Amino acid sequence: MQEIRCKVCSKLLGRVPKATAFEIEMKCPRCKSVRIYNKEALEAQG
Ligand SMILES: [Zn+2]
Repeated sequence: MQEIRCKVCSKLLGRVPKATAFEIEMKCPRCKSVRIYNKEALEAQG
């Protein structure tokens, strides 16, 4: 699993499977910053 952490205060916001691509807007409950987090699916290596 890969962790999604707040880019401002590093609070853990959620977890997603490593191979999952996502683009999600999340509001941090601690520092109230709203950021869009996205990741492309990882390609298998080797
Ligand atoms: Zn935060």
